[in-house]
Amino acid sequence: MYQAKAFSAASASSALASDTIPRRDATSRDVQIEILFCGVCHSDLHQVRDEWKEAMPTVYPCVPGHEIVGKVTAVGSDVSKFKEGDIVAVGCLVDSDHDCPMCQKDLEMLCPNGVFTYNSPDKHGTAPVTYGGYSNSIVVDKDFVLSVPENLDLAGAAPLLCAGITTYSPMRQWNVEAGQKVGVVGLGGLGHMGVKFAHAMGAHTVMITTSPEKAEDAERLGADEVIISKDANQMQKHAMSFDFILNTVAAPHDLGMYLNLLGADSTMVLVGAPDKPHDLNAFGLLFGRRRLAGSLIGGIAETQEMLDFCGEHNITADVETIAMQQVNEAYERLLKSDVKYRFSIDMESLK
Ligand code: NAP
Ligand code: ZN
Repeated sequence: MYQAKAFSAASASSALASDTIPRRDATSRDVQIEILFCGVCHSDLHQVRDEWKEAMPTVYPCVPGHEIVGKVTAVGSDVSKFKEGDIVAVGCLVDSDHDCPMCQKDLEMLCPNGVFTYNSPDKHGTAPVTYGGYSNSIVVDKDFVLSVPENLDLAGAAPLLCAGITTYSPMRQWNVEAGQKVGVVGLGGLGHMGVKFAHAMGAHTVMITTSPEKAEDAERLGADEVIISKDANQMQKHAMSFDFILNTVAAPHDLGMYLNLLGADSTMVLVGAPDKPHDLNAFGLLFGRRRLAGSLIGGIAETQEMLDFCGEHNITADVETIAMQQVNEAYERLLKSDVKYRFSIDMESLK
């Protein structure tokens, strides 16, 4: 065991503060990574503040962070895919049981014994729960380590590991393709990646936002059209016209107003994970025989596919790079939607 530097929260109402945490020595299957950048996901904030109490109560101290890019510092004897010095990435998962029906289908995120990067029971017993990427070092099972295409900027690549895969995976699962009209609801960390992917997949991409001041950015990111969702006339004009909608909103809201945008037999996929239930009037589903679904990150093979897709299309997140010490201020700004469009923590600041 060794000690790593980290930022942790001691309780739901504490600010994140400097800490040292135990990390296991690399086993024969492990990759030890010096973390270079870690994105700030809204899930980090939900978890740190124990907003998911009922489904996933937070164990403190909590070290969040699941958008990790770093450099390999050591590998175990059974690791042949990575070597010291490689630039690698880790997302929301660090382990699973490797052999259940879900793992066999490359759907590790659905494995009943999946281990999330933070706040999951630590099966190595290094600490009560896993500690995430707000740290200068992490040790991860080789099957959960990903390769980063060489051409990608590393600060901007980090958010691909959650915001990227969470928006890419449902678009693949629901077969988004050229010629379709695809909506992305909410222009935040996930939403801005959703717009980039829908555009790169050739869809007619529509940003649906509550914030008129984001319209110009949405177009720059790849949206062909922008709908201001607070404007009932604009919403009415697009009623029943979408093939697919990805809803990334982090707060409870009326789902019906977005369902009404879907054409017959079309699907809206929820990826936002608010602390309280949404409003849902059945009529939004009945008329048009519409579908409402959910999606959780993506499997490891698909995450590598997404990274390779980003390499080919030169896609990274638009980030504001911050020092670890600015993370509490970053959380306040995230709540006000005051970031374009993801914070990426430079771990140099932990030295
Ligand atoms: P974010 O950067 O805060 O973006 C959320 C966006 O939602 C905001 O920018 C805003 O966009 C919109 N919004 C916020 N409040 C709203 C409201 N009351 N009504 C309508 N729109 C509202 O958050 P994020 O990091 O993208 O994460 C989004 C959600 O996805 C979080 O709940 C997070 O926990 C969850 N998540 C889920 C998965 C998964 O696997 N399913 C993975 C990662 C994250 P506009 O200003 O454009 O309206
Ligand atoms: Zn996330």
